[in-house]
Amino acid sequence: MPRKDILGAIRKYTDPFRVTNGKAFRLKDFDPGDTLGLKMDKQEAAELLRRGSDWLAMEQDILYAQDSWSVLLVFQAMDAAGKDGTIKHVLSPVNPQGCEVHSFKQPSAEELSHDFLWRYATKAPQRGRIGIFNRSYYEEVLVVRVHQELLKAQKLPPKLVGKDVWDERLADIARFEDYLARQGIVILKFYLNLSRKEQRKRFMERLDKPEKNWKFSASDVRERRYWDDYMQAYDEAIRATASKEAPWFVVPADNKWFTRLVVAAAIVEAVEKLDLKYPKVSPEQKKDLAAARAELETES
Ligand code: ATP
Ligand code: MG
Repeated sequence: MPRKDILGAIRKYTDPFRVTNGKAFRLKDFDPGDTLGLKMDKQEAAELLRRGSDWLAMEQDILYAQDSWSVLLVFQAMDAAGKDGTIKHVLSPVNPQGCEVHSFKQPSAEELSHDFLWRYATKAPQRGRIGIFNRSYYEEVLVVRVHQELLKAQKLPPKLVGKDVWDERLADIARFEDYLARQGIVILKFYLNLSRKEQRKRFMERLDKPEKNWKFSASDVRERRYWDDYMQAYDEAIRATASKEAPWFVVPADNKWFTRLVVAAAIVEAVEKLDLKYPKVSPEQKKDLAAARAELETES
């Protein structure tokens, strides 16, 4: 299949969910149960995903070899939306040496005594690598916004914390992403869009199945009470930070197989668009290679 047609086929999965301009964005326009009318059995979906991921592994090898562009994948979601499983399934065929996952939990005392982007900035991917943020600087305008006592713990000078503090943070994040993009970091942001109903079902499963009990945390159920506040915070975050350089994908998350397909498609599409090639060997390097071959041949 010619490259143009492949990209066209991939776009069918990504166009409906990509947000590059937040102006008219409303989270409620996106259906967590959407599968684009596609019906697939588990095996079929797994096979398609495997092909996408294998392709990504191939592209990643070139990304690593050219040592210039890098990719940052940001994953945000409510609990049980499937961040961990999506990361595992989509990226498992990728060479671990070219790929790193950072999970951001409650900040440490040291992290709290720095500016809010500090701990994330140090983990941005090196050239040639794929960096994955499992939660990210967006928590600073999500959980910290919903639970404002967390902002107090950040010890900002009170004079600098006014009523616009969240808009200012969102503007800082948008600038930070512009900066990273201009450094050659391709940024893709995924919001795994889970419905409240499906979250309840998945929590119930964690309670019902002994092998899933370890995943259950009572505090996750307590966070559900703030569901509407979180949705409001996500809505505003996406609206303020969706851009061409750092698009959001609002990925339907009530069906795991579909979530994974869309995420895989978005990553493949973005890397494919860079149209990367293995580095060309210079005439001098070719001479070196010939000399090396000659030396090896004298050994036999
Ligand atoms: P899992 O899927 O395994 O539950 P998780 O990402 O939910 O993974 P947890 O250890 O359960 O991991 O939760 C991490 C918690 O840290 C989340 O509740 C998140 O909101 C919180 N957190 C992340 N960043 C910050 C931050 N900057 N300030 C305060 N809390 C944060
Ligand atoms: Mg959790």
